[in-house]
Amino acid sequence: MSAKILVVDDEKDILELVSIILAEEHITVLKAQDGLTALELARKDKPDLILLDIMMPEIDGWEVLKILKIEEETKDIPVAMLTCKTETRDKVLGIQEGAADYITKPFAPEDLIMRVRDILSKKG
Ligand SMILES: [Mg+2]
Repeated sequence: MSAKILVVDDEKDILELVSIILAEEHITVLKAQDGLTALELARKDKPDLILLDIMMPEIDGWEVLKILKIEEETKDIPVAMLTCKTETRDKVLGIQEGAADYITKPFAPEDLIMRVRDILSKKG
């Protein structure tokens, strides 16, 4: 799968884990540990998909998603939210805000890859 994915998570262990899983699929991985860096990389590198953590200090995932969806140069990049929360309320909110998917941590590597493939194939 030749794709470029931006992974955003303030927890370094999760960031590394997701990166390793994706790299094994020959996906190019860009990493950000905070919202501002995520926005910069999204504008500069135009990834095919963004995996975005919700719970982050300063600018959280919802804020980042909102900005991504407003800006012309990033609005068409699919975004899948990564979160520990399992409440349906968050899921509904995520879809309303324009998230392509909602992935609950912890996840099995094969599940993550399946979701990623699915989103990328819909993008065409
Ligand atoms: Mg977090």
